[in-house]
Amino acid sequence: MASFYAKDVHEVLSELETSNTGLTSLEAQKRLERFGYNELAEKKGETIFQMFISEFKDFMIIILLIAALVSVFVGEITDSIIIVAIVVFNAILSVMQKNQANKALEALKKLTKPNAKVMRDGNIQVLPTRELVPGDIVILEAGDFVPADGRLIEAVNLKVNESSLTGESVPVDKVVVPLESDDIPVGDRVNMVFTGTTVVYGRGRMVVVNTGTNTEIGNIASMMEEEKIITPLQEKLAELGKTLGIAALGICAVIFFIGYMRGTPLLEMFMTSVSLAVAAIPEGLPAIVTITLAIGVQRMVKRNAIIRKLPAVETLGSANVICSDKTGTLTLNRMTVTSMYVDNELIDFNKIERSERVSKVIEMSSLCSDAKLDEEGKGIGDPTEVALILALRKLGREKNELESVYPRIDELPFDSDRKLMTTVHDMENGYLVITKGALESVMPLCVSIDEMGKIRDLTVDDKQNIEKANEAMAQNGMRVLGLAYKVLDGKDYNPGELENRLIFLGLIGMIDPPRPEARDAIKECDSAGITTVMITGDHRLTGEAIARELGILHDGEEVVTGKELEEMDDDELARRVRKIRVYARVSPEHKVRIVKAWQKNNAVVGMTGDGVNDAPALAQADIGAAMGITGTEVAKEAADMVLTDDNFATIVAAVEEGRTIYSNIRKAIRYLLSCNIGEILTVFIANVFGLGQPLLPIHLLWINLVTDSLPALGLGMEPPSPDVMKSRPRSKEESIFAGGLGIQMVFEGIIMSILAVMAFMIGRRYDIETAETMTFMTLVFSQLIHSLNSRSNTQSIFKIGLTTNKYLLFAIVIGVGLQLLLDTQPLSSIFKMSPLEPVQWVYVLCLSVLILLMGEIEKMIFRIVS
Ligand code: ATP
Repeated sequence: MASFYAKDVHEVLSELETSNTGLTSLEAQKRLERFGYNELAEKKGETIFQMFISEFKDFMIIILLIAALVSVFVGEITDSIIIVAIVVFNAILSVMQKNQANKALEALKKLTKPNAKVMRDGNIQVLPTRELVPGDIVILEAGDFVPADGRLIEAVNLKVNESSLTGESVPVDKVVVPLESDDIPVGDRVNMVFTGTTVVYGRGRMVVVNTGTNTEIGNIASMMEEEKIITPLQEKLAELGKTLGIAALGICAVIFFIGYMRGTPLLEMFMTSVSLAVAAIPEGLPAIVTITLAIGVQRMVKRNAIIRKLPAVETLGSANVICSDKTGTLTLNRMTVTSMYVDNELIDFNKIERSERVSKVIEMSSLCSDAKLDEEGKGIGDPTEVALILALRKLGREKNELESVYPRIDELPFDSDRKLMTTVHDMENGYLVITKGALESVMPLCVSIDEMGKIRDLTVDDKQNIEKANEAMAQNGMRVLGLAYKVLDGKDYNPGELENRLIFLGLIGMIDPPRPEARDAIKECDSAGITTVMITGDHRLTGEAIARELGILHDGEEVVTGKELEEMDDDELARRVRKIRVYARVSPEHKVRIVKAWQKNNAVVGMTGDGVNDAPALAQADIGAAMGITGTEVAKEAADMVLTDDNFATIVAAVEEGRTIYSNIRKAIRYLLSCNIGEILTVFIANVFGLGQPLLPIHLLWINLVTDSLPALGLGMEPPSPDVMKSRPRSKEESIFAGGLGIQMVFEGIIMSILAVMAFMIGRRYDIETAETMTFMTLVFSQLIHSLNSRSNTQSIFKIGLTTNKYLLFAIVIGVGLQLLLDTQPLSSIFKMSPLEPVQWVYVLCLSVLILLMGEIEKMIFRIVS
């Protein structure tokens, strides 16, 4: 059987039992059952059971289990059962939380799975690529990933980058004609396209021949490794965990030694030390960080930002420059033709009567467009071109009519580098060539001008007049298109000579209003210490006008064009970049230089992009943000984040969430570590002063593995604080303990331990069991209350509002409930607690509430010094 590339299109279509209009949904469903999903099998993640088992691989947990074993040997069976029960309970809690977080992150991945444009039931539909089957007809455009292996059935200037498959980085020109031989290596099958390669230019259609593991890439890699991404913060915390572990072991050895010297029985001291070591290490922290991240990114999805790469969440909080495309991101991308320049006259399009010359400009420019209107009159395609088709309708004409008279037979597609587009149309005795684009690109191609239907040479005066009209429109914030044409006689033309010797026809000006929310978002950036920079392919004056209107450009700041940028070397650009607020007439290639120049200035840069050529800049930026609606698949793949509404304000919302997530993680760390310090110091102080053992090992384990972690989780859910966007971005190098967090933690730990030791001393006046119970209760309650302190470094809890974090309140209630449950039989005897008298309860509660007072005083001092 000959290969698909050696057959002609009809043969291929009939062999695959399909047609130009594609498959029906029913047939596609049948084929999906037969061939399976179009995806490479992903390695399975951990099962719940495996996750549960991994919980026991932790070093401290192993020591704890050894301690439980030792207890069995010396006859303390109840103790060992409790230890195991607490460890298992902790493992179950942790697995539940991690599973929840994994699910959230998994759901996130699904949101960014690529789509393809497929013909189904005779219509173009956008479907997830995994649903493609052999026989599907797929539409390919610049910026698309080829979603399956296919045989081309149409190719217009189609160029595909196949480096992912062949290593060859020069794009391959694709054709439709069958190849001579049927023994051709993959790299030379120029009428085929392959999964994972990218369309870099032109457009085409293919019929899918192979999917999933049957594709060329599937043969190479049949299994995709599940990527395990951890963020820099998670990395730092893992390091911290190790350091704390070593420190904890040291402290425990000291306590063990002191206790032993004071005559405490060896086994008791051993158990206390092991429990303390467990208490010193915040086992719950990694899970809490993951969950806080997962919940944070879910919140971002609700605000239209999808995070593709988890580390970006942290980077967002440090972003201090955002470079944004103008069209569609800062503006609505709803273009409307409002002005026109033709026959030496600037015309207001809204006021014109039907006129020959205006019609000619609009008709020609519509012919040179890919956009169309659907049945309801809504535009489909590039908004710049939709504006033209709508203007055509306003004049009472339809694009279809024009196209039936002047069918398109060839084209040079628009791209942001050339800023030009040309189409060729069949005419009775020749061809009509129409070119539209930025005036700077069109003018050099023109030699004559069409004036009142008469064609004459283009003079220097004409050029000056046209330039002036162009500037006048641009100054009003308009996007301007220049339009030119020529007629070729005869039945042949040279495709390389289409864009020369053109006749200038006119200019079309269109407005694209700024997004109303962009202004506020830019203001917010200002107060958050973030510089906004506009990047546009439009004229300098257009960019400048819009930038001023939006509050991006102020007096003393600069506007630079792509041409000027090219004349600057990298050092000069790096020197000037801080002053430049608008880059006009730039190509996507310039964006990489802009990002690098900012990075040379130690900035953390966010950059938006949508086209295939934007991918390098998105990858280079610290936070690449791709457009969800207008963005190409290639841009999305390269980005850290996708904006589902293409909106600048969404980036700012994401920054706010990024800052909130980071500060919530800091709150959880501060809380957990201060509690741990409190626990260690309580035992340490009591031992050093020979007061006896204030807490039993099982108490320590209970506090540390059960009651601590719930409020920490609650802190991770803290809503964004109203002033989160009022401070400067945090530096990327900043330590997690920056801003006095370390000192605060230690101070709070000391206070907590003093309160607990006081409870112990008061309790000792009764009996040792009462003393231990009072210490245990005081420590648990003061920690639960302390979680309220941890909600802010500086602000009083009464100012933030006691009820503004419902999750935390819920966690506190659960914590209190669990603790009171321990106070009932039979748990209280298992935990060796004695029932407290009302007066003892009063002591416990007063001491516990004192932590709130101490917290408020601490914040007051902090407000004064900072
Ligand atoms: P921005 O950079 O502001 O987000 P953009 O990237 O969409 O905008 P380009 O598409 O590169 O900017 O447009 C640059 C110039 O190219 C425009 O000012 C216009 O003159 C011209 N242009 C835009 N769209 C078309 C088109 N479809 N056909 C021909 N010329 C176009």
